[in-house]
Amino acid sequence: MANEILNTVIIGSGPAGYTAAIYAARAGMNPVLYTGKEPGGQLMITTDVENYPGYPDGIMGPEMMEDFRKQAERFGTKVINEMIVKVDFSGPVHKIWTETDQEIHAHSVIISTGASAKWLGLESEKKFMNNGVSACAVCDGFFFRGTEVAVVGGGDTAAEEASYLAKLCTKVHLLVRRDEMRASKIMQKRVMNTSNIEIHWNTLTQEILGEETVTGVKVKNKITGELSEIPVSGFFVAIGHKPNTDIFKEWLDLDEAGYINTIPGTSKTKIDGVFASGDAQDNVYRQAVTAAGTGCMAALDAERYLAAQEII
Ligand code: NAP
Repeated sequence: MANEILNTVIIGSGPAGYTAAIYAARAGMNPVLYTGKEPGGQLMITTDVENYPGYPDGIMGPEMMEDFRKQAERFGTKVINEMIVKVDFSGPVHKIWTETDQEIHAHSVIISTGASAKWLGLESEKKFMNNGVSACAVCDGFFFRGTEVAVVGGGDTAAEEASYLAKLCTKVHLLVRRDEMRASKIMQKRVMNTSNIEIHWNTLTQEILGEETVTGVKVKNKITGELSEIPVSGFFVAIGHKPNTDIFKEWLDLDEAGYINTIPGTSKTKIDGVFASGDAQDNVYRQAVTAAGTGCMAALDAERYLAAQEII
């Protein structure tokens, strides 16, 4: 592909990337989509999606992403399971490098690289990573069935992880750093109505305890300063996400949290022919349906750009 100039390369395979691909493929743009290292994105680690229109009974996240992928491929999107590691937007033709060091050239690029889980940054968290510490209850909850676990966070992700784990574990300790949760009311209600979830308010995680495996978590009450230990065998981190935009920072304007700035009301970035969609540029809504909507916008903006350049 090195010497060929592709019309449109889509980077990322969440709802934004696949929706961009569906629109771009149907518009005859012959898009090539690079999935990244987590094909399907964050929905692959989600259980029931109940708020995506069109699924009245809800759908499992991975199943939904499989549907998205099939729909994109049905119209001719070429889906490649590779990670993009570097870009050069000095233009007018944009250059992109894969992890296997292939150089790709494209007239337009749609960024839909999403966001990844944040970590607390504790040494003990690193020590037990994937061995008692996880950011994905759906992936790892099974290993802790019949035991007590802790979840840190107060948003919808933490509420969802705690609810999921409560079905497998004897008890879930939800560690919330303030005296209220950020999660939506319905999710909070679900957590509060689950008898084996205990919410620890104003609680800061000091350390994850254990020798070979996790045996507990040391916490501090923010108000009283009191230190205590909660015996758990698993520790789930659910404190939000960081946009996957590091490879673009040299070329695009990012906000202080790393989200790509787009021209309001469009998917356009400051570089001609480079468009951004989904969680990589959305610090506010961050929903599958809004990601899909902005993926659609990016494909339409890219199509108009290519048409104006008389490329398609
Ligand atoms: P979020 O809304 O940003 O919430 C992050 C939570 O983690 C907050 O409660 C925050 O506390 C806490 N936190 C952050 N850093 C922490 C630290 N160092 N120690 C302890 N706690 C810390 O992130 P999210 O829950 O991942 O949700 C992201 C977006 O996805 C939201 O818009 C959410 O509605 C959406 N979402 C929706 C669903 C669904 O509808 N099914 C499921 C998951 C996510 P503070 O409140 O004190 O800042």
